[in-house]
Amino acid sequence: MTTAFVTGVGGQDGSYLAEELLAAGYAVHGLSAPGDRGHHTEGVVLHTADLRDTAAIGVLLQEIAPDQVYNLAGISSVAASWERPVETAEVNAVGALGLLEAARRVVETTGKRVAFVQAASAEVFGEPAETPQDEGTPIRPVNPYGMSKAFAHQAAAVYRTHGVHACSLILYNHESPRRPGGFVTRKITSTAAAIAQGRADELALGNLDARRDWGWAPDYVHAMRLAAEHPEPGDYVIATGEGHSVREFVAAAFARAGVADWQRYVRVDPAFLRPADPTELRGDAGKARRVLGWTPSVTFDELVARMVEADLEAS
Ligand code: GDP
Repeated sequence: MTTAFVTGVGGQDGSYLAEELLAAGYAVHGLSAPGDRGHHTEGVVLHTADLRDTAAIGVLLQEIAPDQVYNLAGISSVAASWERPVETAEVNAVGALGLLEAARRVVETTGKRVAFVQAASAEVFGEPAETPQDEGTPIRPVNPYGMSKAFAHQAAAVYRTHGVHACSLILYNHESPRRPGGFVTRKITSTAAAIAQGRADELALGNLDARRDWGWAPDYVHAMRLAAEHPEPGDYVIATGEGHSVREFVAAAFARAGVADWQRYVRVDPAFLRPADPTELRGDAGKARRVLGWTPSVTFDELVARMVEADLEAS
């Protein structure tokens, strides 16, 4: 039986990944930070530890001796990383290094293959000069979140030459009804649903011109599993290749919620603008398609529809 260890198991990605691995018959151990309440997935063996406690993580990994380690934990938003830059580096960067080192020790003590999948981010590219980006695009982050993810991405490459079957997936924005409300997609779909149902009358947003490559989160966790199980470890851009502006997302969500004339409800609030904000992040997942056979399964319109429907039903 394959044993997997998933950090951030209560988050959007962690919960979808745990479901996929359990359905495939794996034993799944999950890590949550102390006090962190997220999605509980029946069947996951839950452990509580702070990723910054590298000694505790090392002991835990020796006990579990997993075949696959997925590092999905961390401060997951750019906005939060500006508020807590040092903590972002401690958890996302140093935490990832501690986990890689713990995985290397499992290889050393058991002699078995241990696959490691790091959830990196398109934010490692910062304000890229070229669009779309791929695995060869220079790593040049412009915010504390991107910096921390760049370190973890490079740490995975170093440990790949150091005994661990380490992969890093440069994940573009990936969304679902489990996306927390601090992210723009969920903020838009939940507010559009609330406006449609007369529970709200305004949506305050920041930069409407920012363009992102939004995909369906379960597709992205599936890519992680494909990478872990491929004979060769590597880096992969995981993206749809399609870019849309925040404005387009708003228009699609309001239309789906049945609210005509979205402009009446949307107000631009400078509080939601960021010190540095990439104007366009769009990825070329050609390598993942060729090597892993991965393709996204959900279109932009379908993604918006699923999120809006879930928010209409939830209220
Ligand atoms: P990120 O790309 O990982 O930072 O994901 P977000 O969903 O937080 O942000 C995506 C884009 O939406 C960024 O370019 C933000 O500047 C833009 N945006 C515009 N208005 C808002 C807002 O009110 N909240 C958030 N979170 N992002 C916004």
